[in-house]
Amino acid sequence: MPLRTLSTRIAVPAGFFALVSAGALSFVLIRTQRENALEEAVLGSERIGETLLLAIEHEMRINARDAVREIVESVGRQEGVQRIRLFNKDGRISFSSDSAEVGEWVDPKAEACVSCHTGETPSMPSDAAPLTRTFQDPDGHTILGTMRVIPNARGCQGAHCHAGIAAQSVLGVLDVTVSLEPAEARLEAASWNALLLSLLAVAAITGTLYAIIARAIRRPLDTVVAATRRVVAGGSGVPIPRGSAPEIGILARAFNEMVESLNSSKSRLEEWASSLEDKVAEKADELRDARFQIVQAEKLSSVGLVAAGIAHELNSPLMAIITYSHLVRRHLPPADPAQEDLQLIEGEANRCAAIIRQLLDYARKQRQDAPTEPCPVGRAIHGALDLLKVELRNGGVEVTTHIPDGLPVVQANPVQLMQVFVNLFMNALHAMPKGGALDIAADVVRRTDVGELNLPPHESTHLVRTVVRDEGTGIPAEALSRVFDPFFTTKPVGKGSGLGLSVSLGIVRGCRGTILATSDGDHGATFTVLLPVSGSATDGHDG
Ligand code: ADP
Repeated sequence: MPLRTLSTRIAVPAGFFALVSAGALSFVLIRTQRENALEEAVLGSERIGETLLLAIEHEMRINARDAVREIVESVGRQEGVQRIRLFNKDGRISFSSDSAEVGEWVDPKAEACVSCHTGETPSMPSDAAPLTRTFQDPDGHTILGTMRVIPNARGCQGAHCHAGIAAQSVLGVLDVTVSLEPAEARLEAASWNALLLSLLAVAAITGTLYAIIARAIRRPLDTVVAATRRVVAGGSGVPIPRGSAPEIGILARAFNEMVESLNSSKSRLEEWASSLEDKVAEKADELRDARFQIVQAEKLSSVGLVAAGIAHELNSPLMAIITYSHLVRRHLPPADPAQEDLQLIEGEANRCAAIIRQLLDYARKQRQDAPTEPCPVGRAIHGALDLLKVELRNGGVEVTTHIPDGLPVVQANPVQLMQVFVNLFMNALHAMPKGGALDIAADVVRRTDVGELNLPPHESTHLVRTVVRDEGTGIPAEALSRVFDPFFTTKPVGKGSGLGLSVSLGIVRGCRGTILATSDGDHGATFTVLLPVSGSATDGHDG
């Protein structure tokens, strides 16, 4: 039985209370029983005395001393009777169940005689009720003594033994002593029985109380606890029975209400989680599309750039062919048979030049055709970071951004602007193979504050400046001037095309801005993107 349980806390004090009550009850009962037993013993001993007096009255009158002695001795042998004696007024023992003391004198100072013999004359009247006293014999047994006086009846005065004592009211005393030992033994046994019964009653009361409390409180509580544990373990809450006690019913109702509200919250959460999963999947699809578009845009830009590069390179030798064939034709006589061939060369070269012009026009037009709009630079940066977040995290790159709220917008194509930042961040990632910090900061500067940077002319007086700084390998001085050249790459085949920066610069210049590259030795590189604020001065805001 655990000590701190509710059942124990109620049953133990109740058991203690029952024990005290049973103890008090037993005490009163035993005392009453003792009094009753003493009363019975007194009555018994009085009855013996009375019977004896009746039995010996006649024998005394006829002075049949032997018969009296025999009666006294036979009554004295009865069970429980300790001694019977008769002594005269002076205290001389005339008859006794103990024949050895016949003729002896009773000590008037003895415990049993004191009550009547305190003064010179005995105070016990002849018609007084028997005098009862208890005392211990030399063996330590409790003895009950009953003394009654033998009055001087008329018949006695006639008898020759008591003749001439008519004035005397008392002839002697009959003293009956009985042992209280059997009564005490019965009393002790009864006391033990009462004690045992009390203990049994206390145990029964405590046990029953414990069982009732356990049934009325513990079991319903255990049900609530088990149901709570099921809920905690993630199981769905099942309503618990109300129970018979109203208090338990209140608890059960409260618990059931809680379970109901938990279940509905849980199902709402599950619905929300599944809709969240759908949304995440939707966003992932959108991101994949955006990435695909950027790659496509980069490919198209690259093709355009390649075409432009080839066209530019071919243009000069073609011009030379056209010029020289024209010059040679002018120096030859018109009838010269070579005239026709030279004309053919010139014509075909012109056709090539026209194709090249068309190619250049296409490349230029493609860049110019991308529709522009006021773009928040912060959105393009975060969009690029979102696209690359997995690569950056896997590469151990720690990104910090300092992009103030309310940054003015720039006029650009949003996809192309994001493509610029994707290129810059990818280069930083490649330059930090062991990971490192990538710091991105944006602010607004005056055009006059950035010095002579060969910026395309623009009416805006302010620029949005984005500085992308990494802790990578840095760019060697000899490579710094070439990083924006098409096809310049230091990356292994298959990893770099050498077009990223040239395409990015093309896009930014298309927006009337520029990109600058600096290197901090071999401790990292910094790319600064400068873009004119859309509209005049600082109107328009970053979102
Ligand atoms: P690619 O990345 O395909 O090589 P890019 O035009 O983007 O082409 O870059 C050209 C070269 O510039 C790179 O190969 C690299 O050598 C150098 N470079 C670009 N960005 C960085 C950078 N952040 N740190 C060091 N070198 C860089």
